[in-house]
Amino acid sequence: MKKYILPILMLAVFEAVAITLWLTKNNIFYLFNFSYIGGAIALGMVLYIRKNQHARRVVQLLVGLYMLIYLGLICGENMQIEGFWYYLFTGVFEAATIHYAVAKIFGPVLFGRGWCGYACWTAMVLDFLPYKVPAQPRKKLGWIRYVTFALSLIFVGALFLAHVGNIERIMFWAFIIGNALYYLAGIILAFAFKDNRAFCKYICPITVFLKPMSYFAVLRVKCDKEKCVSCGKCRKVCPMNVDVTDNSRKRENGTECILCMECVKNCPKGAL
Ligand code: SF4
Ligand code: SF4
Ligand code: SF4
Repeated sequence: MKKYILPILMLAVFEAVAITLWLTKNNIFYLFNFSYIGGAIALGMVLYIRKNQHARRVVQLLVGLYMLIYLGLICGENMQIEGFWYYLFTGVFEAATIHYAVAKIFGPVLFGRGWCGYACWTAMVLDFLPYKVPAQPRKKLGWIRYVTFALSLIFVGALFLAHVGNIERIMFWAFIIGNALYYLAGIILAFAFKDNRAFCKYICPITVFLKPMSYFAVLRVKCDKEKCVSCGKCRKVCPMNVDVTDNSRKRENGTECILCMECVKNCPKGAL
């Protein structure tokens, strides 16, 4: 039972959020929503502990499909960054603002970029592509994320400033078109750079929130220097080019770690 402490703790955190939001917002949807997500993540952790090879992908599909199809397409919630700006500008703490607060702004202080490894519906598709391990060196293109971040803010800000009517409908279509563009750009980049996660590294605007917050992450992969023989395998299998042998917070690409555990699984000395 002791080995299941972490999934139990994770489930407890999500249940606390679920119950708090259910009672404060007087909306039982939050109880269902966060219980489902917490349950899926806890299930994935249990599968991982039981050495199931597909543990991460199971969570990714359970959470990613739920958010994309149920919340996005069926409920009509724009859960992309434009939806976050939209709710922020209307001053409503609902849907996308809650999602961003939990998964992408404050949550990363606890679980780093777990969102990127286990829940994102964009990466859910990109991770099916053939370049799980980058076949080319990392490019210096990270600045593009600030451009896409600014564009998303300008787009929603302009809708408000121009007093455009029926913004909710526009947000729904922005979600569909935005996702289609993300998938298209993500797939093209993956093949061009021979790297499934190229979109995450260079384009995704959400990393503007995720990277600084995950710098302080409590949950991190650490290296036992006594066991490490500097074979370099962990670096080779890492989809995000993280130098996980360096335990400092300033380690190379440290804020890129998506907690996929590929390095841990592949370390021949069990040093991670
Ligand atoms: S970087 Fe962006 S696209 Fe990639 S997994 Fe994270 S949120 Fe999704
Ligand atoms: S794979 Fe393990 S032993 Fe090899 S460098 Fe990484 S931590 Fe050290
Ligand atoms: S392989 Fe290790 S260091 Fe790289 S992203 Fe996955 S968990 Fe993080």
